[in-house]
Amino acid sequence: MEMTRRQEIMAMLRDGEWTLDELARNFVVPRKIIIDDLEHITRSVAPPSRLVIYPPTCDHCGYRFKGRARFSDPSRCPQCKNEHLLPQRFRIE
Ligand SMILES: [Zn+2]
Repeated sequence: MEMTRRQEIMAMLRDGEWTLDELARNFVVPRKIIIDDLEHITRSVAPPSRLVIYPPTCDHCGYRFKGRARFSDPSRCPQCKNEHLLPQRFRIE
């Protein structure tokens, strides 16, 4: 049986950590499509598993994003305005 894109993303996230860009490139779809998929997946992952967001740490000032619930990458550091942040990563734990 062929897996849907969302099923494939879920399988990938169970195996390792992925960024929004990596997932979009892998499936050759716009990032917005992946964000929609992730919003769907986060509601359909059965506890105690959950979709976890690993936010970046600002390498300029060391700021750490806490408790991020958005799937789009943060565009800049709220503390020092650094716009060169690493992408956040996702994983199902
Ligand atoms: Zn910063």
